[in-house]
Amino acid sequence: MHLISSEARAQHTNGGEHLVRGPLGPVPYVARWSGENVLEAPLVETRQGIAYRDESSVDRDGHGLLWSRVTSRPGAGEPLYRQMHPLRQRRAMRRLLCQVCAGPADHNQHGTLWLIHEQPHPWPGWPERAQTTHPPLCLRCARISVKACPSLRPAHVVLRAHSFVSGAWGGLYRTGWPNPHPFLTGAHTLQFGDPRIRWLQADQLTRELVGCTIIGPEG
Ligand SMILES: [Zn+2]
Repeated sequence: MHLISSEARAQHTNGGEHLVRGPLGPVPYVARWSGENVLEAPLVETRQGIAYRDESSVDRDGHGLLWSRVTSRPGAGEPLYRQMHPLRQRRAMRRLLCQVCAGPADHNQHGTLWLIHEQPHPWPGWPERAQTTHPPLCLRCARISVKACPSLRPAHVVLRAHSFVSGAWGGLYRTGWPNPHPFLTGAHTLQFGDPRIRWLQADQLTRELVGCTIIGPEG
C-alpha cells in the first residue's frame, strides 16, 4: 500500500519544466532514472506521526522530515524527464543548485533565477509567496530550457526571487492505529509550521518565493 502510494506520487513529480529532451540532450540532474527504484518502506504510527519500522538516521533530514526511499543510480536505465529524484531534488533545493546541470543557480541582487508554471487562478500579487518544488536554474540552462520547448512558453514565467525552504510535498497520512492510512486525495504540500508535516512522507522540498521580479517568458 505504501509502496504504491509512493510510486504513484513519483509518476507526478516533475511538471514538465525540464525541457531538454531526446537521447542527445543533457538529462537534468534532478530527473529520476528508470533504474532508480522506489523502495518498500513499511510505515508505522507513532505518537507524533509516521515513522519507518526500520528507520535509520538517513531517513530524516535536519527538519525532521521523513523521506521516501528511492535508490540512487543516476545513469541507470532511461531518464524519466517528468519525475524528480527525491534526494537530488532536495539537494538542489537546499543548496540552490541548477536543476539541469547541478552547478550554482544564477543569482544577482534581485535574487535567484526560477522558471515556474503560471497559475490558472493566480492570487493578487502572484507569484509573490508562491511555493515551488522545482529547483532554480543557471542562466545557460534557463536559456536552453526556454528555447527547447516553445510550445510551453505561455505556460511558464521566468523570474528572479529570494526564497527560503518552506516545507515539503509528498504523501500525507492520518491515524489508523496501529498502521497509518494514506489520504487518497493525491500529494500534499505542507509548511514547516503545520503539525501535519509529521504525517508526511516527503518526496520534494518546497521553497517559498519572495521579492519576485518577473523577467518574462523569454528569460
Ligand atoms: Zn545549469
